[in-house]
Amino acid sequence: MDDHGIRIRDIKALDDIKLFPVLTKKDVLQAGDSIISSRYPRWMTRMGYTGGTTGTPMQLRRDLFSIANEHAFVRRQWDWAGIGLRDKCAYLTGRLVAKPDDKGSSLYAYDPIMKELILSTYHLSPETAKDYASVIKSYGAKAIVGYPSAVCLLARTCLLSGIDIKIKSTLTSSETLSKGMRDTVAKAFDCTVYDFYGSAERVCYIQTCERGRYHVIPEYGLTELVPVDTWDNGKCKVVSTGFWNMAMPLIRYDTGDLVTRSDEPCPCGRSFQVVKSIEGRQADIVRTPSGREFGAAILTHLLYGAGNILESQIIQDALDHLTIKYVPSSEFSQKDVKAFEGLILQHLPGELKADLKQVKAVERTQSGKIRPVVSVIDRQNRINMSQANLSPANAIAEP
Ligand SMILES: [Zn+2]
Repeated sequence: MDDHGIRIRDIKALDDIKLFPVLTKKDVLQAGDSIISSRYPRWMTRMGYTGGTTGTPMQLRRDLFSIANEHAFVRRQWDWAGIGLRDKCAYLTGRLVAKPDDKGSSLYAYDPIMKELILSTYHLSPETAKDYASVIKSYGAKAIVGYPSAVCLLARTCLLSGIDIKIKSTLTSSETLSKGMRDTVAKAFDCTVYDFYGSAERVCYIQTCERGRYHVIPEYGLTELVPVDTWDNGKCKVVSTGFWNMAMPLIRYDTGDLVTRSDEPCPCGRSFQVVKSIEGRQADIVRTPSGREFGAAILTHLLYGAGNILESQIIQDALDHLTIKYVPSSEFSQKDVKAFEGLILQHLPGELKADLKQVKAVERTQSGKIRPVVSVIDRQNRINMSQANLSPANAIAEP
């Protein structure tokens, strides 16, 4: 603030936030501990991690109040979806319930207090999806919560195998949910699909209402939608100031994600800013020799807690092999390599080998973003199928 001549008394209206410069991921990484508030007692904080769906893993310090508060925001999304505290839910998220090479009945866990059925997303394949569907059905879940790629694989399997499941709502997050995926899930489970966008940095929260439109939640943070192009195509950067984490306040933080804004009011009647679509989490799917499928959100768990990495990209270059490219920071050491290898062993099955490859920079897409997951195999299959004029296995919904 001193460097920019910003005085507290200059800040009177929301718009005065523009006095501050935009904060980038790189700034936060370079700042290290100096960005953590010295006024907030350290014992009242916890570490949070992001595997980085934009390719940059980060470690964040959160205060306990903000952690509790996050649950309140999630609950509101669930309220909108008609799911109450007493309702049973099935989860296809990143939680570990089985070792990478486990099989059979150990692939799910049940928490009777939280009324949660936790299914191992790491073991999801068209084969295990049939078992998962019957477990969800006999459990009587009212909602399915998960990553779009995983929920969509389950939905696809149910449609192709004629498995009939009816639930009230599906709640997805962490990856791009395309219209095709949304339609497949809605059809397979005869449900309404709710999607939400947030990030480990916890500065911005965008969720869909029952009309399927995305709303920016104003109590969560101050979100500025900053136009990317000079002409008005609605495409904007998400720059947000979180309201709740006093341990590590991020002011005007550039999330690295893009949205398309809409100035049309939503028919649901809520006056929160409407966003047409969220871009920026586009990635391929990794398929293993035995048919398991890993979407971007699940794969980024490989990087949870991996420190001192500036950029990364997971590449499937053979059916049984991944190369994980990474750009180290100046503090990167052998200890980080060991931690990285530990994460790989904890998450990936033996049938999929992974090697680390240090690089100077990770290739960008035309829009300057890193694709966190690239599958040479997936792309080749799609080309082969389109040449042979066959419809690919995921023709029902192209992620
Ligand atoms: Zn609405």
